[in-house]
Amino acid sequence: TIGMIAIDMQGNVAGGTSTNGLNHKVPGRVGDSPIAGAGSYVDNEVGGAAGTGDGDIMMRFLPSFYAVMLMKTGVSPSVATAEAMKSIIKYYPDFVGAVLAVNIRGEHGAACHGIAQFPYSIISPDYPQVTVLNVPCI
Ligand code: ASP
Repeated sequence: TIGMIAIDMQGNVAGGTSTNGLNHKVPGRVGDSPIAGAGSYVDNEVGGAAGTGDGDIMMRFLPSFYAVMLMKTGVSPSVATAEAMKSIIKYYPDFVGAVLAVNIRGEHGAACHGIAQFPYSIISPDYPQVTVLNVPCI
């Protein structure tokens, strides 16, 4: 999955995900990517989040929605994404995936599980060139 969160000059937040799905998926499978809250989720007053991983599991936990709701309470993107990931691995300890998030102040973070680290790219006033950051997984 390619997940993207964008904030424009007026502070509008947009999110999107694009995926080729899972190997051996059944014909007609929709997956998490087009489902708001499972693939990506945004709130203009908070920020946005996007996820990748086993969509059949992620649709049960809505990790992007959960991360944005946590950020709404003042939690940082790093902590919000870690909590979203923990909510999944509590029940699916073999889950492989990641969630990234950015808030309207431009703070960003990501969390992942089942791989060593997760790379995400950013471009912003603080990162005028596209920069790839790596977060170690929990
Ligand atoms: N989330 C995608 C899906 O389950 C797969 C992926 O992230 O690679 O369709």
